[in-house]
Amino acid sequence: MARVVVTGGAGFLGSHLSDRLLARGDEVICLDNLVTGSMANIEHLFGDDRFSFTRHDVSNHIWVPGPVDVVMHLASPASPVDFQRISIPILKVGALGTHNTLGLAKEKGAKFFLASTSEVYGDPEVHPQPETYWGNVNPIGPRGVYDEAKRFAEAMTMAYHRHHGLDVRIVRIFNTYGPRMRPDDGRVVSNFVTQALRGLPLTVYGDGSQSRSFCYVDDQIAGQLALLDSDHSGPINIGNDQEYTMLELANVVIRVTGSSSEIAFEPLPTDDPTRRRPDLTEASTKLSWKPLIDLETGLARTADHFASVIGL
Ligand code: NAD
Ligand code: UDP
Repeated sequence: MARVVVTGGAGFLGSHLSDRLLARGDEVICLDNLVTGSMANIEHLFGDDRFSFTRHDVSNHIWVPGPVDVVMHLASPASPVDFQRISIPILKVGALGTHNTLGLAKEKGAKFFLASTSEVYGDPEVHPQPETYWGNVNPIGPRGVYDEAKRFAEAMTMAYHRHHGLDVRIVRIFNTYGPRMRPDDGRVVSNFVTQALRGLPLTVYGDGSQSRSFCYVDDQIAGQLALLDSDHSGPINIGNDQEYTMLELANVVIRVTGSSSEIAFEPLPTDDPTRRRPDLTEASTKLSWKPLIDLETGLARTADHFASVIGL
């Protein structure tokens, strides 16, 4: 049993992670400023006296009373729509928030876990992407605020590991979806599924030939816990290596939801990566982990969630 601080614990991934930590007997101290998270994601946890919530911006100094065994830093907006809307808070939580959470872990003698991202690979020239690939990121483009903040966060984490001997884990998360995503977060699965449920056209950006690889949330959290409990610092890719073009994804969503929606093409956002698929060799050999849930199954569960949230 561990006492775990989860930043971003009221978000999509952080709330699922909190569920799993509590289920295995850990205590969870959730810190979240609710910029993209929601109390609805954690309200079912308030009856559990091993769970606590404090509304706090972790880009400011963090104070947690008592011992802490693990600090898991998930706080950060993650949708490309937010990269322009709240660009400076994203830079701050990736940089200052990571510094503060590393400082908390050092002060408490705790293990530190960083939620990094496949975005550190940018628009990748190597495919699929192994952890050894250094990436291809435009630092001054609209996505740079997120990509570079996460790259800085990884550098800061490794500096604390080398300089202070901190026990660290870095996960590079590839596109993950599932219940508790916000219907209006602007990410592709949220957009396509809510559009399909409402009978609206699915908005495919560009010609839809760009690819992504989609991991169901339960698989993602299982991979993160396997990394946390392992002796490996990482970074380690966690995702699903089944790759789809956005046009293929749109058609799977239409099929799974039984929708009569059509497809509408819209302009491709600046610096949108052309392809993305994790090389999962490290995850399978070092963590004995692999994703289990296929896209159709995961999308059906996600569609049920969105249908109840948007009242269909
Ligand atoms: P999310 O927006 O649902 O969750 C992020 C949470 O962090 C929210 O609850 C938000 O309110 C909180 N937060 C943001 N800034 C904060 C701050 N300054 N102080 C305190 N709380 C703050 O997004 P998510 O998809 O759950 O992402 C969680 C983490 O995983 C992020 O670090 C993200 O970069 C990373 N990630 C997610 C994906 C994905 O596909 N979901 C992919 C790659 C990386
Ligand atoms: N996308 C799309 N239609 C949408 C939203 C996104 O075609 O309504 C595309 C987007 O251009 C990108 C992919 O879907 O190529 C994944 O976008 P998302 O915002 O989910 O995450 P990203 O992987 O780009 O961070």
